[in-house]
Amino acid sequence: MSYVPYHQSGTITMLAGPCSIEDAEQMELVGAALADLGLHWIRGGAFKPRTSPYSFQGLGEEGLKLMADTGKKHGLGTLTEVMDTAHVDLVMSYVDALQIGTRNMANFDLLKRVGSATAENHAPVLFKRGMAATIDEWLSAAEYLTQGGNPNIMLCERGLRTFETATRFTLDISAVPVIHKRSLLPICVDVSHPAGQADLIPSLAKAAIAAGCDSLMIEVHPNPQQAKSDGPQQLTLAAFASLMDELRVIAAAVGKTIV
Ligand code: PEP
Ligand code: MN
Repeated sequence: MSYVPYHQSGTITMLAGPCSIEDAEQMELVGAALADLGLHWIRGGAFKPRTSPYSFQGLGEEGLKLMADTGKKHGLGTLTEVMDTAHVDLVMSYVDALQIGTRNMANFDLLKRVGSATAENHAPVLFKRGMAATIDEWLSAAEYLTQGGNPNIMLCERGLRTFETATRFTLDISAVPVIHKRSLLPICVDVSHPAGQADLIPSLAKAAIAAGCDSLMIEVHPNPQQAKSDGPQQLTLAAFASLMDELRVIAAAVGKTIV
């Protein structure tokens, strides 16, 4: 599939969308809202890495179809997580970019498979940091992806497991300047999963931009209270639109635009 560039200098790529792809109406509302804001990407999970086997596991291929339709209709690049080596080709046949989640950072067989599957078409890969991984371990694991020759790998800080329980995970904002010092890969900051609560998202997103992130990930949902996963941390579409106004000001202050 063809894709729009993941990251260009002077820009912050916004990767917003629901935690899980749930149905056509949800995806239409989110896709239309993101396109209205002039954004280029939509995220959403079809294969979900849930802590409990009794939680919603995602729509699988049906979700991938909804994602592809939404992307096509609104001119958005599509990003979804791939959890299993057996699903790599299927997922790539529907979406533009692949996400490797925190729980799979050290699933080296998956990394090798995604590295080789994207070696030729250079499909973007968003590579999340393991929730208990050091930056060294993360960068070393990233080489499984880059080894095949795909230059479109973006790292993603998404919070660490610490003793702190006031937030879902502890966002390591230091990862942004450290990655810039140690790697040429761009870095995204996922502010939703560390926050765990929607009201913390604006502060974390502003901090990430001020720290120099190249991309932001924010979960949004037309009706967070009804969401099938991660409801408490998802922003309504109205809250996201007004946050975008604030974030564009911070981005301008550091010489960037949000796309
Ligand atoms: C996600 O972005 O949908 C997700 C499950 O994130 P993480 O792997 O960071 O928990
Ligand atoms: Mn989520």
